[in-house]
Amino acid sequence: MEQTFIMIKPDGVQRGLVGEIISRFEKKGFSLKALKFVNVDRPFAEKHYADLSAKPFFNGLVEYIVSGPVVAMVWEGKAVVATGRKIIGATNPLASEPGTIRGDFAIDIGSFCCTPLVFENLGASCTRNVIHGSDSVENATKEIALWFPEGIVNWQSSLHSWIYE
Ligand code: UDP
Ligand code: MG
Repeated sequence: MEQTFIMIKPDGVQRGLVGEIISRFEKKGFSLKALKFVNVDRPFAEKHYADLSAKPFFNGLVEYIVSGPVVAMVWEGKAVVATGRKIIGATNPLASEPGTIRGDFAIDIGSFCCTPLVFENLGASCTRNVIHGSDSVENATKEIALWFPEGIVNWQSSLHSWIYE
């Protein structure tokens, strides 16, 4: 079974979307394998987003992630990485479809940041888009190891046989 790393970003927590977001993954049929509510520091946020360190929005992104507590989770299920990204929606909230988490709950692309559909960041400002999800199985493995060095919870939902053939 595949696993993905999902993080509810500080704006998602502050806006009271934790229950709603967890509920969407649960109702889809994915299984929660780990969860914690934490404040991360700058070095940790920089490590999580290391791949984006050359981007002009990197500093703003790190500031955003350390600006309040986040909910870190591991979800498991068939094709959960790609499906998780679909549930989350496009990076730019102005382009994300209604029905996705970002499409339903986020608006702003940050001042100076981008034109509506051409997502091109010009300044330090950073998109408040509520949630992070791993973009590949390989990155999911890395992110899970970074956020949950203590390991995840080993269990299987009793609904498993009602969800999978
Ligand atoms: N981001 C931004 N401006 C950009 C691109 C990204 O502020 O031009 C922020 C945004 O919060 C995004 C995060 O950086 O979610 C990580 O960017 P990535 O391209 O990995 O998007 P994601 O995988 O989160 O959809
Ligand atoms: Mg990404």
